[in-house]
Amino acid sequence: MCEEAMQVSQPSADTCWIFGVRNGYLSCWPQIARSMAISCKVTGCKNDSPPALAEQQVCVLHFTLSIEGSCAEMRRETALGNAPHERQRDIMRFITESGERLARVATSGLHLTDDLKARILSTFLTLMNLRENLDRANMRSSFGRTGQTR
Ligand SMILES: [Zn+2]
Repeated sequence: MCEEAMQVSQPSADTCWIFGVRNGYLSCWPQIARSMAISCKVTGCKNDSPPALAEQQVCVLHFTLSIEGSCAEMRRETALGNAPHERQRDIMRFITESGERLARVATSGLHLTDDLKARILSTFLTLMNLRENLDRANMRSSFGRTGQTR
């Protein structure tokens, strides 16, 4: 009796799924509903974490703040020009991944205030500058001795 009910309920869930979409219940899509409900994990922050940041579980503001913070740290690290290659690769990867994610957040159709838009742009700038710094530091270390700067 019980097993039968299980067997019946399994395929019917799938059917409901299809019907649900067909009946215009797309807004009830469980995945979106779940990620919409995630709130920013930063203590005291009442903003929601958008689906594009489900992995990070932070709001857009705190996402940009965390990138800015990491960038400032990495910039200090690379400024001296003696960061190991391994570390430089990590930083490079961080820049690319953060940039991609930020672009996804910015273009995902979220309602963003002008302040937030400006903040996203300045975070892009921070990422670009860090990348430039890294390249410059690399150039110094590879051409520094022969004096071939550019
Ligand atoms: Zn937040």
